[in-house]
Amino acid sequence: MKVLFYAAKQYDRDSFDSVIKNYTDVEIDYIDSELDPLTASLAKGYDAVCAFVSADVGAKTLTTLDELGVKTVLMRCAGYNNVDVEKTKELGITVKIVPGYSPESVAEHAMALALAVNRRIYKAYNKVRENDYSLRGLRGMQLYGKTAGIVGTGKIGAAMCRICHGFGMKVIASDVYENESLKSFVEYVSMDELLRRSDLISLHCPLMYSTYHMINLESIKMMKKDVILVNTSRGALIDTDELIEGIRMNKFLGVGLDVYEEETGNVFEDRSDEIMPHSVTARLMSFPNVMITSHQGFFTTEALQSIADTTLQNLMDAKNGIVTHNDVGFVVNKE
Ligand code: NAD
Repeated sequence: MKVLFYAAKQYDRDSFDSVIKNYTDVEIDYIDSELDPLTASLAKGYDAVCAFVSADVGAKTLTTLDELGVKTVLMRCAGYNNVDVEKTKELGITVKIVPGYSPESVAEHAMALALAVNRRIYKAYNKVRENDYSLRGLRGMQLYGKTAGIVGTGKIGAAMCRICHGFGMKVIASDVYENESLKSFVEYVSMDELLRRSDLISLHCPLMYSTYHMINLESIKMMKKDVILVNTSRGALIDTDELIEGIRMNKFLGVGLDVYEEETGNVFEDRSDEIMPHSVTARLMSFPNVMITSHQGFFTTEALQSIADTTLQNLMDAKNGIVTHNDVGFVVNKE
């Protein structure tokens, strides 16, 4: 089986090369380009393509892949909001994802962001390097005894609930399905109640029509003053312009974002020599209580290993016509 691996970084090659020895009939060619309507044509002669969060797996890309006879798309990530699911069904293209690779890695990064914005670690680091030992602008809040509101208690949200519980926080959550395994220490509430009661709000639900811009001016107005907001899920869960308005209203103690609306095009690229065009991200970064990282929640040795293992197993399953929970159609039907 020949796989064309798009947007390959050195760490992708390392993790996939370390497991490919277990799959003797699989051959992978790595390329730097992202999968999109233009680069889809490069997949001629391949059995499958492998893509990541910033790929454009829309109707045009899928049509080209279909014309080339490529019937398997291996997403090496958990989210699939960049895949036109209806089109894959129409064309009979199988899309498999890696739903549960190291949820703790992402949850730990969410807590790292919460702690960093709360205690202004990024400022403190730079201040001390500049011989400035004053504490001005560094005051944070104690998390112990405060309320954490977790939106979405699937694999990553559940891990975040456990971390917050470990910090001695009261944990409340909102989800369309309640996770029975958490109920000994998590109180399920409505989204409105979560917004009103939480000192820390962390987003862990997928991006769908129903969750698009779920954090907007209306929901921000419901939040407590000096709340901490963290998003490690998908950028478009938050309306960025309205978040900026909320920040200007002094609503937030801190905002930590691993994902943001304008990230496509930036993610995993070094653009430090470029003059950036007009951007709301630049405006966000101008605030002293905002910290942005570039979609690195997943980026641990354990998660990369797990992604490589599951993606190649997904390829074998696709080859053998085996449908599992990792099939996008399966997940959609279930929901
Ligand atoms: P999951 O499917 O296990 O859990 C998602 C949960 O969200 C489910 O329990 C679902 O019922 C719930 N949900 C759906 N609609 C909701 C709504 N309107 N309100 C509240 N909850 C709702 O997914 P997961 O593995 O925990 O991943 C969560 C998200 O994290 C993914 O969709 C992906 O976008 C993101 N992610 C980010 C990174 C990163 O590197 N930053 C890595 C992996 C995943």
